[in-house]
Amino acid sequence: MSVPLRQQLAVGSYLIKQKIKGVKKYPLVLMLEPLFRCNLACAGCGKIDYPDDILDKRLSVQECLDAVDECGAPMVSIPGGEPLIHKEMPQIVEGIIARKKFVYLCTNALLLRKRINDYKPSPYLTFSVHLDGLKDRHDASVCQEGVFDIAVEAIKLALSKGFRVTINCTLFQGETPEEVAEFLDYAMELGVEGVTIAPGFSYERAPRQDVFIKGLEVKNLFRGIFKIGKTRKWKLNHSSLYLDFLAGNQNYDCTPWGNPTRNVFGWQKPCYLLADEGNASSFQELLDSTPWDKYGTVKNPKCANCMAHCGYEATAVEDTLANPLKALLAKIRGPKTSGDMLPEKQPEFVMTYKKSSISEIPVKVES
Ligand code: SF4
Ligand code: SF4
Repeated sequence: MSVPLRQQLAVGSYLIKQKIKGVKKYPLVLMLEPLFRCNLACAGCGKIDYPDDILDKRLSVQECLDAVDECGAPMVSIPGGEPLIHKEMPQIVEGIIARKKFVYLCTNALLLRKRINDYKPSPYLTFSVHLDGLKDRHDASVCQEGVFDIAVEAIKLALSKGFRVTINCTLFQGETPEEVAEFLDYAMELGVEGVTIAPGFSYERAPRQDVFIKGLEVKNLFRGIFKIGKTRKWKLNHSSLYLDFLAGNQNYDCTPWGNPTRNVFGWQKPCYLLADEGNASSFQELLDSTPWDKYGTVKNPKCANCMAHCGYEATAVEDTLANPLKALLAKIRGPKTSGDMLPEKQPEFVMTYKKSSISEIPVKVES
């Protein structure tokens, strides 16, 4: 079991309350981005391509805690940028823990050794360390040599001090199932609580567009990984149905309000991944004013290749609640790794490519 029972019960009871109250759109994980500044510049990053005046902005402790209260999600993920750069991060984390929310502090770990004594181990706090693979792969992914070794040392230190630690792994072009399997074996040897794993989202703002894997390539890669995983004991921090989705066995629409994003611009519409679609000044305004029907892989070219957990894990959780037996079978058997995949839904748009930009031509789809 990768997620502790206390957290499973807290999240389970939150979900049941939403169902009893008949809430249709509820948040599961608040994505809190108190800054965009980072001390790395990864090839597939869509968060750091802002002018200095934006990169220098910070959400205050109060703004962060107000966002936590306003949204009410039982879990808070703090990505960035690099959150450990934020001078008031310990107070932000402390305030979230005091509210009995489970906080995942996502870090590239470059500053973790220096800052670790600013934090106390807690069942509510997890360091989620960015590692995209073993040494060569990870250092290439973050475009800097030596980062893997620093991250691994920081993971060992955090574990030795009694912190909960997970690894956050994003997959890019050129990965093989064998290579990813070797990495997951290594992560288990390190003794982390679990690994979150997903294909990189093709951010328009990313410095390189050739690093992303898409569509069938993603599903075949995950089928290959899961085939090897049948004889391993990897702890993956995902629902069984999200993993089944990655392997091409579920056709889901995303649930972007499941992981609402608060950053230095406000509440970002519609999700953590898409910038430039506007912002709301409150969580309620985000829910009420976002044109949710405009988004999703078949509806919007910007979403065309999205299989990210921040978009689809909440969908898989909803499906689990609606079809617990299906979810249980997927957990017991693991994702299906052979036979036909579910046919992909046809997009309601056509993509045209103009050098490096993508434009959209709406088309009428016969029903
Ligand atoms: S992917 Fe993460 S570590 Fe890399 S530049 Fe972006 S925010 Fe920093
Ligand atoms: S598919 Fe959904 S989660 Fe993914 S980018 Fe589009 S709106 Fe966001």
